[in-house]
Amino acid sequence: MDREKSLEKIAAEIAGCRLCKKGGTGKVVPGEGNPDARIVFVGEAPGREEAGCGRPFVGRSGKFLRQMMRDIGLEDDDVFITSPGHYMPLRGTPSKETIIHGREHLQKQIELIDPEIIVLLGSTACFAILDRKADLSTDHGKTVQTGGRTCLITFHPAYAMRFPEGRRKFIEDFRKLRELMARGGARY
Ligand code: URA
Repeated sequence: MDREKSLEKIAAEIAGCRLCKKGGTGKVVPGEGNPDARIVFVGEAPGREEAGCGRPFVGRSGKFLRQMMRDIGLEDDDVFITSPGHYMPLRGTPSKETIIHGREHLQKQIELIDPEIIVLLGSTACFAILDRKADLSTDHGKTVQTGGRTCLITFHPAYAMRFPEGRRKFIEDFRKLRELMARGGARY
């Protein structure tokens, strides 16, 4: 089975998963993008706009994220965007149980896409992938190697949008991402 079909199969598994739905509402958001992406962006869980259409990062913070991507030469089609939470949480943020369960589906997507770089957008993404809490004030901009891939830690775009200092650091981290992309020698 090719990558695209396999990703569709994972998306169908997510859509049919009762544990993913627990504590959440709206349409399922399984993630989307290029099956051969060299970069995967990992968020937290969908917000209202994402839950309305079933697509990741299409609301205000998503538009900001996608603009930041374009600023370093990445088009939507170059990347895959996903998250450990697949439904909009009923209580604002996804529970630890939701993340611990949801990251199993996320890991399958990552194994399949096999990217060089994973961008961790905020502390929930760090916990989902690195299995530890991150202190973003000191950890942002750092890279961690895991499973032969480079994970870049940064802020969630909703935070970066809200605080000028966060925005400045987010921009710095995206510059770092551009350097990592150049070093990897991948096609973007
Ligand atoms: N925040 C996320 O983490 N994911 C989305 O899709 C939207 C907002």
